[in-house]
Amino acid sequence: MLCVKAHIALALLLIVPGGSPAASPAVVEITAASAEQLAHAEWALARFAAADLELPALRIVFHDGYEACGMREGVLAVSGDGMTIHECEPDPARLRRSLLHELAHAWDVSGGIAPAARDGFLARRNLDAWRDDSLEWQQRGEEQAAEIIAWGLGEQAAPIATRVREVGDQDPGALAEAFLLLTGRAPLFGTASGAGN
Ligand SMILES: [Zn+2]
Repeated sequence: MLCVKAHIALALLLIVPGGSPAASPAVVEITAASAEQLAHAEWALARFAAADLELPALRIVFHDGYEACGMREGVLAVSGDGMTIHECEPDPARLRRSLLHELAHAWDVSGGIAPAARDGFLARRNLDAWRDDSLEWQQRGEEQAAEIIAWGLGEQAAPIATRVREVGDQDPGALAEAFLLLTGRAPLFGTASGAGN
């Protein structure tokens, strides 16, 4: 079992010359069973840093099997002692997207997406609610937002790989517009800051 603390605020400072130092650097604690899992988590954190999306302090814990994630790929647990991402996806081809998706939820829950941006996103995507468990998963604003943020932080403009693609415009231009609404910037792929990470 590997346990590593990544000081992500340091990465943010390196990428934003002239930016003011964070008062209390957010620390991400990663518990992984392999060096590969650790590398995937550090890659996902680096994608957020490259896009200047400041994550809260949190834990990422990898599990064997889907049981710990309620039979999902991953899940974000928010409790009194902070946020924990439980990651259960063993397929490396899907793991990185899953990590970006759960980190996007953590960024959202910590206040990353302003209320006005949420409203604009819902209107643009013809969705009714940001968070409503009575809605189908792919009809929830927060899930579409997490998928589109994961898409925009990827290394290429790949199609969205999940059921979310059944709802709303999946044209890359429309997705880029939605990503801009949520994050205030263009997708990372194809930009200098997103190349080669
Ligand atoms: Zn989700």
